[in-house]
Amino acid sequence: MSDAARSRLIPDVDFDAEGKQTGFVRLFHSVHSSAYGFIPIPIVVIKNGAGPTALFVSGNHGDEYEGQVALSNLAKSLDPSQIKGRVIILPMANFPAAMAGRRTSPLDEGNLNRTFPGNPDGTVTQQIAFFIEHVLIPMADVVCDLHSGGSSLMYVPCALIKRVSDAARHAQQVALLQAFGSPLAYVSGGGNGTGTDSTLMGGAERAGKLAVGTELGGSGQVTPAALRIVERGLRNVLVQMGILPRKMRLKGEDTRFLNVGGPDYFVYAPDSGVFEPVVELGDEVRKGQLAGRIHFPETPWAAAVEFQFGREGFVLCKRVPGRTSRGDCLFHLGTDTVLE
Ligand code: CA
Repeated sequence: MSDAARSRLIPDVDFDAEGKQTGFVRLFHSVHSSAYGFIPIPIVVIKNGAGPTALFVSGNHGDEYEGQVALSNLAKSLDPSQIKGRVIILPMANFPAAMAGRRTSPLDEGNLNRTFPGNPDGTVTQQIAFFIEHVLIPMADVVCDLHSGGSSLMYVPCALIKRVSDAARHAQQVALLQAFGSPLAYVSGGGNGTGTDSTLMGGAERAGKLAVGTELGGSGQVTPAALRIVERGLRNVLVQMGILPRKMRLKGEDTRFLNVGGPDYFVYAPDSGVFEPVVELGDEVRKGQLAGRIHFPETPWAAAVEFQFGREGFVLCKRVPGRTSRGDCLFHLGTDTVLE
């Protein structure tokens, strides 16, 4: 049996049909309140003739909303007559998590983006990962997985690629990132080289597909600026792939490219308490600069714990909630880089 045939999920759209189809991927889930019911994961397929396929995904983490809004808008606005090829839109990939507004699924605590390549006979989240990896990704030429900081983090909105070892594919991904036209973009270290990357982007890399991701903002909200960036970026990815005509390219911004490297780019809470950041998102910081304090208001006479940045860089991401536990990620930095 092929890997795709092992998936238990049943899409009620025909991926080879022409025109726009809307429907659900059925994930049968027998529980006390619904013996024979299914979880309806929404999907839209827009196809016109032969051409490349773009797979656009959001709601991989359910508390990241910018991509869900952008893909809902795209599902309504994109007309089959405008395109050449196919666009597959999966706006609430981890549907139970997205409906609950949570990073992870309330059904099995599954973090979809740590579950790839999934398991066709596993938990709900494992079954979704398997379906995306073995049914959707093989159909795609390019995969966009739209993330943001979720409930606990806020990013300066940006697009990203993972560094891949294949030089030709890296060059194509750099071209896609430039076409995306976001004011900020970064290249992450990429997979661990063993093919065991458990993210959706890792699945795209395993299949040899082009992949672009985002970190659009976060704090469990949608901002007009982030939405403008992602809607323009998705359209320009479709133009870059030849799915939309060149005349539909939207003028992007000059992109500042950052590198996100090893552990010294990240700052973690040294103690549990209330987090006071002393820098803002988008600040430039230097090594040894005070990053923030952890306060202990339950023992108000106790000294706050101060902590510093381990290197210089641009403050790309910060933690949002005040209450913090030791080990929580509080900041991560990026440093300027030139993309080749
Ligand atoms: Ca995320």
